[in-house]
Amino acid sequence: MIFNNLGDVLYIIHALESINTSICITNTRQEIVYQSSRKNIAHNLAANDVKRVIETLQQSQNANFKIQMIDDWITAITSVTLLIGSETYLLEFKQFISSLWHFNTECHNFDNMSIHQIKEMAITDSLTKLYNRRYIDERLPIDMQSSFELDKPISILFIDIDYFKKINDKNGHAAGDQILQDLALLLQKQFNKENGWVARYGGDEILICLPGCTNKVAKRMAHRLRKTIEKTAFRIAKSEVTITCSIGVKTILRDSGVTNISELMIMADKNLYQAKQEGRNKVV
Ligand code: GH3
Ligand code: MG
Repeated sequence: MIFNNLGDVLYIIHALESINTSICITNTRQEIVYQSSRKNIAHNLAANDVKRVIETLQQSQNANFKIQMIDDWITAITSVTLLIGSETYLLEFKQFISSLWHFNTECHNFDNMSIHQIKEMAITDSLTKLYNRRYIDERLPIDMQSSFELDKPISILFIDIDYFKKINDKNGHAAGDQILQDLALLLQKQFNKENGWVARYGGDEILICLPGCTNKVAKRMAHRLRKTIEKTAFRIAKSEVTITCSIGVKTILRDSGVTNISELMIMADKNLYQAKQEGRNKVV
């Protein structure tokens, strides 16, 4: 790959940085000329620019791949040689797969795990076994883009358990954990995997993504889920509890003017907030 100057390279770098990928450029004297930080990066590059960069990188004949531990992080490093002006540089993509402290080292023997298994663990919430926040951050932009390219809508359901703190206070944190696990199973059973995916956003918040799904269908599904949850008796130790959830639904189309997932999440969160304001156990 030949670039005229470092500025050109830095332009593409911003397209490739993400929350779990850092990029490092070193010269032949192994001096670092660029090191990105692992922070939430919001960039507004056009999809076409990003595609062009990917195509350029695909043409590279000298890419290398290795797995390394960096600060207790299992890290996948892909490196490519770059020609900038007349100098050769090494461009490294460091993808942080998972931190060691996510694992019980007595149970997991990394030597016997495939990259696929390690990656699965990195995108799975350890309590509920749903996809985790990292999966949302990586997958949602892809589904959003694909839906737009097919000129189809994309809907998300933001689900939050009502008064979960009180449930924990009354029944104990272990019971709360059990409820979260059972709720996750219940949600996964409620729809066909081909229609979308369910992920734990964090705490008692769960996100369902339905690419290609209209607002009418998404709302109908949300109402059905809300009713099913309300009617379910969740078993904890020797008793049973019932819970309710509030659900914020948001559907966008290519011409909705939404360009990134943060905007979409904020809109769904607003609807969730309204559902809470209207007395909870509601769909907005
Ligand atoms: P609201 O109706 O406004 O949602 O009330 P809430 O009490 O559910 O409030 P909020 O959603 O802000 O708080 C979520 C609570 O969920 C906080 C914490 O007690 C509990 N929680 C978060 N993560 C876990 C977890 O992994 N296990 C358990 N048992 N509880 C959790
Ligand atoms: Mg809650």
